[in-house]
Amino acid sequence: MPDTADSQSRARAAKPLPKPGIMDIHAYVPGKAQADGVANPVKLSANENILGSSPKAIEAFAGAAHELQMYPDSRTTILRNAIAERFRLEPERLIFGCGSDEVFALLNQTFLEPGDNIVQGEYAFAAFAIGAHACQALVKNAREPGYRIDVDEILKVVDERTRLVFLANPGNPTGTWIPFSEVLRLHAELPPSVVLVLDGAYSEFATDPAFQDGLDFARGTDNVVVTHTFSKLHGLAALRVGWGYAPAEIAAAVDRIRLPFNTSIAGQRAAVAALADEAFQARSIAHVEQWRSWLTQQLGGLGLEVVGPSATNFLLVGFPKTGRTAAAADDFLSARGLLTRRVLNYGLPDHLRITIGLEEHNRAMIDALAEFMKA
Ligand SMILES: *Cc1c(COP(=O)(O)O)cnc(C)c1O
Repeated sequence: MPDTADSQSRARAAKPLPKPGIMDIHAYVPGKAQADGVANPVKLSANENILGSSPKAIEAFAGAAHELQMYPDSRTTILRNAIAERFRLEPERLIFGCGSDEVFALLNQTFLEPGDNIVQGEYAFAAFAIGAHACQALVKNAREPGYRIDVDEILKVVDERTRLVFLANPGNPTGTWIPFSEVLRLHAELPPSVVLVLDGAYSEFATDPAFQDGLDFARGTDNVVVTHTFSKLHGLAALRVGWGYAPAEIAAAVDRIRLPFNTSIAGQRAAVAALADEAFQARSIAHVEQWRSWLTQQLGGLGLEVVGPSATNFLLVGFPKTGRTAAAADDFLSARGLLTRRVLNYGLPDHLRITIGLEEHNRAMIDALAEFMKA
């Protein structure tokens, strides 16, 4: 450990001081779940599954109620085997975490020394950078012209201290995606020492044939990690289960530092049941596809800019910079019980991110925004 001037001054401090950089981190801002004076608002601020969860997953969760005294299986074996079988993957190459957020954090901890960096798009999901900063690494943002990842912009900012490139495809909060041919081009141009993390949190909602989550490609590489989550399509955000498919050496390295019991018994069992419930998955995807195009059309008809096309279960909507602003729209919608997500922390003060709701939510959203735009 370097005995820097800074570490000496921390040793002499009158109280414990966090290591440099920690207090500069912007803590993650979750989507709001409440509005003042509104009973039972509709939460369209966190991209949760509006259809709920698979009934089979709920049943599996309930079945774990009488084993709360037990530690879970540290290897997450039942889910490991179910995922390996479903996607034809090698079980030992799977990493599990308390949500895919923990998988990102573990990858950062495994690869980043102070002064190293990660590269991401300028509107990248906040969890990547928080984990990197916690390792005293730097975060280099690549421009996203048109709110879309641009491979050349990413390659421009990669340097000799880059250890990881994070790419959510489709992205959050943009909702946009890039074809797999572009992911392959990025991989081909990256130094082999750089880990390419493909975050597929919304990949099941990306139904264009030019989209791929990268699992098949990752199989034959030494430096690609593909992550998935049970929080979005499967509607199990409360249970915190995410996973990654990594080269064997990376999985073995991560396994040395993870918390021993980072998935729960209820989470493991509910995830196994959810994975098997293809009917619930298909219904969820069909619902999103139907209302995504309707909402896109309606919002456009109100004169609002819809970023896209969205390949996710949400839309990023641009508002005028003055007058009918995103901030005013957010307040207006909140007062009517429709909770959306402001995205200031992503450098997007003039946009709202809106999760696709049930039919009645979507219609109420359009009615409310029509009224707002006229006001
Ligand atoms: C929601 C989301 C995740 C998943 O987070 P979990 O920790 O698995 O709940 C990952 N990446 C992106 C871009 C997301 O929006």
